Amino acid sequence: MKRLAFAVLCLGVASAALGQQYPIRQVTMLVPYAAGGPTDTVARVVGQAMSKPLGETVIVENKPSAGGILAPEQTKNAKPDGYTILIHHVGMATTPALYRQLRFNPLTDFTYIGLVNDVPMTLIARANFPAKDFKEFLSYIKANKDKVTYANAGIGAASHLCGMLFMSAIQTDFLTIPYKGTGPAMNDLLGGTVDFMCDQTTNTTAQIRGGKVKVYGVTSPKRVASLPEVPTLDEQGLKGFEVGIWHGLYAPKGLPKPVLDKLVGALQEAVKDTHVKQRFADLGATTYPPEKATPAALQAHLKAEIDKWGPLIKKAGVYAD
Ligand code: ASP
Repeated sequence: MKRLAFAVLCLGVASAALGQQYPIRQVTMLVPYAAGGPTDTVARVVGQAMSKPLGETVIVENKPSAGGILAPEQTKNAKPDGYTILIHHVGMATTPALYRQLRFNPLTDFTYIGLVNDVPMTLIARANFPAKDFKEFLSYIKANKDKVTYANAGIGAASHLCGMLFMSAIQTDFLTIPYKGTGPAMNDLLGGTVDFMCDQTTNTTAQIRGGKVKVYGVTSPKRVASLPEVPTLDEQGLKGFEVGIWHGLYAPKGLPKPVLDKLVGALQEAVKDTHVKQRFADLGATTYPPEKATPAALQAHLKAEIDKWGPLIKKAGVYAD
């Protein structure tokens, strides 16, 4: 018995010591979507800012898959040592209702680190799309519903959620073209091989400002400060239409407390960083304050979002499998 107690004590001391030393090598942040897309952009900004307080580089690794369901599964199965973390958006809350056989449970399989930012979405189309405003856009896509194509990042992605809500709001279905992220979807939109999509401002702002795509509205209840000339969908007649995308950081379940504390501290430094806040603001995103960059705030937000989207998605009867 004494020997067991001693062993347990040694283990505790060892893991505390490991936690104190953490990190001694680079930390990998998994991104559920392709490089060059909106989630990837957020990951790179926050990862770089966290590298400084951690004293080791946070590298971004893209693990694109339909709907972004692979990266959370890989995070769940990774060692809880702080060297594998995950960034994910609202998809963490929508996939439980969309996938009947999801191989992870957002509410039980992870250690929560904290909230990162909120990002609105924009309804955009290829530059030569034949509609000059939202009114024309609506009548054109309704009249051509069997021809126009909607790009998204697979069932469970923010672009899927926005498209699903949009189609239901205007009571018209379109052919959807799934990609492994809206980075590659944007390339096809720029190339004119797909017609329209709904994507985060973190991916669309530069293309909108550069006149490379047409924009028909933002999905937030108020206009976005960085794109003040773009009306909301709500003010253009889609009353109550609102899709807000938020990002959080996760680690595998069972992360030792000292390691978690370091990651939370690094995230809090990152969200306080004026460069980070400015970069996100330029891209239309709002950075969470440090008191929301905490495990408790992320857990509460995730739970509320699951409770909010789950019934809506079930009602819509959309399933990926
Ligand atoms: N965030 C995008 C979406 O949910 C995917 C991506 O980041 O590429 O559609």
